Amino acid sequence: MDKITPEQRHYTMSRIRGKDTKPEILVRKYLFSEGFRFRKNDKRYPGHPDIVLPKYRTMIFVNGCFWHGHENCKYYTIPKTNTDFWVAKVRRNQERDRSDNEALAAMGWRVLTIWECQLDRNRIEITLKNLVEDLKALQLG
Ligand SMILES: [Zn+2]
Repeated sequence: MDKITPEQRHYTMSRIRGKDTKPEILVRKYLFSEGFRFRKNDKRYPGHPDIVLPKYRTMIFVNGCFWHGHENCKYYTIPKTNTDFWVAKVRRNQERDRSDNEALAAMGWRVLTIWECQLDRNRIEITLKNLVEDLKALQLG
């Protein structure tokens, strides 16, 4: 994991920030460009984590703000029609996320969640930078 200059980072960011790129792919591309190696959608684990970093004993979920019910987020707005249905559906997802996270933590994994809104054009760079620093700090510690 070599240090990269701000110019290189900007270049990397401009390349991974594709137009219709799914949020988890943005995170994977960035981590890969920073030298991290990982498994994807590991079905052996509860919740099928989007990114599994065995070396860091860390799993990352990249969550859509609506489906996973990101509290106080502008992307989590319950539709005006079929409101009860949507509230119940999102609540079930939240409960499942919580129990998945608890199960993974009990297995000794650190679980990180990145929300879709943190990957907005104006937040993605700091989000991914913080993630990488977080991972590196763990390995050293
Ligand atoms: Zn959000």
